[in-house]
Amino acid sequence: MPTHHHCDLAILGGGLAGGLIALALAERRPELSLRLVEAGERFGGNHLWSFFDSDVAAADRWIIEPIVGHRWQGYDVAFPNHRRTLDATYNSVESERLDAVLRATLPDDALLTGRRVVEVGATGVVLDDGSRIDAKGVIDCRGPGDLSRLQCGWQKFVGQELVLEQPHGRARPTVMDARVEQLDGYRFVYCLPLGPDRMFVEDTYYSDGPEIDAAVLRQRIRAYAEAQGWHIAEVAREERGVLPVAFGGDFDAYWNSTPPVAKAGMRSGLFHPLTGYSLPDAVRTAAAIAGARDLSAAGLAELTHGLARTTWRARGFYRMLTAMLFRAAKPEARYRVLERFYRLDAGLIGRFYAGRSNWADKVRVLAGKPPVPVARAVRAIWDMQAGGREKRT
Ligand SMILES: Cc1cc2nc3c(=O)[nH]c(=O)nc-3n(C[C@H](O)[C@H](O)[C@H](O)COP(=O)(O)OP(=O)(O)OC[C@H]3O[C@@H](n4cnc5c(N)ncnc54)[C@H](O)[C@@H]3O)c2cc1C
Repeated sequence: MPTHHHCDLAILGGGLAGGLIALALAERRPELSLRLVEAGERFGGNHLWSFFDSDVAAADRWIIEPIVGHRWQGYDVAFPNHRRTLDATYNSVESERLDAVLRATLPDDALLTGRRVVEVGATGVVLDDGSRIDAKGVIDCRGPGDLSRLQCGWQKFVGQELVLEQPHGRARPTVMDARVEQLDGYRFVYCLPLGPDRMFVEDTYYSDGPEIDAAVLRQRIRAYAEAQGWHIAEVAREERGVLPVAFGGDFDAYWNSTPPVAKAGMRSGLFHPLTGYSLPDAVRTAAAIAGARDLSAAGLAELTHGLARTTWRARGFYRMLTAMLFRAAKPEARYRVLERFYRLDAGLIGRFYAGRSNWADKVRVLAGKPPVPVARAVRAIWDMQAGGREKRT
């Protein structure tokens, strides 16, 4: 039955960004009435989101802390000619937990699942069952906009949570094991020890194209597990992703490819250009919204557009490195760029993933013998800049 809602804020899309904004507002602005609208049957979809402690400012930890399900001290990387254990705290969030915490925190009438938004305005939306929501402000968090407005490669993967017949004995995540056969670009396997006999194993590719053959990747996960001596009793869960890794594009065209309202998450272009990860930016956005004085439609649009645009501009360095990875390195040699990167200082690596590299970091990343041919690198950077200029005019 269609219903008519009136509220202070309507959040469209109950994934990572929308869910975090709702939790942050419930904590800091309990006087506000909210509606969080999600097309799926539960909030968060089917994801395991991970981040380093250094990705999230200490002042914003309160937003993510209630949903962190796993935490490890230290992580490993392994390449054909280099292995290393880094000392950093790594965290994972399961989407089931985001769903459970949202349901425990927000009143029932604030949470709408199984409803698709079909029309969006700055102060009102229409849902697929004919229901209407009138709100003082609307924030659109419905996932990516038109990615064809950006120049992208892809980070694509299938991940499976494996229940093993015996304990695996691993204490730390392996964030990259690139000792596997290099196929379809840069390939590595990512492993998270979720319990003594549970291992999340993800087969990942930095590729030119977004296509995934899930059956083939499942076989490769099985082969990798067997090579580690892990006997699989059961596959408890599976997820897949095709994330944009951006080396150029027109931010304004991307922003304008979706309705002209406040936006957050992937929809606002807030993701790390080289990893496609958006959790750190989603936390930062939720903190900014929860702390904002003006939560009117116009105030929210200005706040979120400003945050996204400033962040996009500040990340040219990461887009340049992505261009070098995709355009200058031959697909089968891309792993060398990462192998060299993982020889650098641990603090620099942390700041890199957090998108907070300083000038010295940038110089250090680019200094020394480049792992890609110089002429190709210069051409890649030139193409990237020319692409950005063309699209701006
Ligand atoms: C499998 C996977 C794993 C990832 N792992 C990580 C990670 O470890 N760390 C990290 O930082 N990033 C990770 N990412 C990348 C990125 O952070 C996630 O994609 C993240 O979920 C993006 O957040 P979002 O809120 O923008 O979009 P989403 O989380 O996708 O949320 C968008 C929501 O909007 C809903 N929706 C869409 N259209 C409508 C509509 N018309 N009406 C109502 N609802 C609608 C969708 O159902 C969805 O729930 C991962 C991505 C994937 C796919």
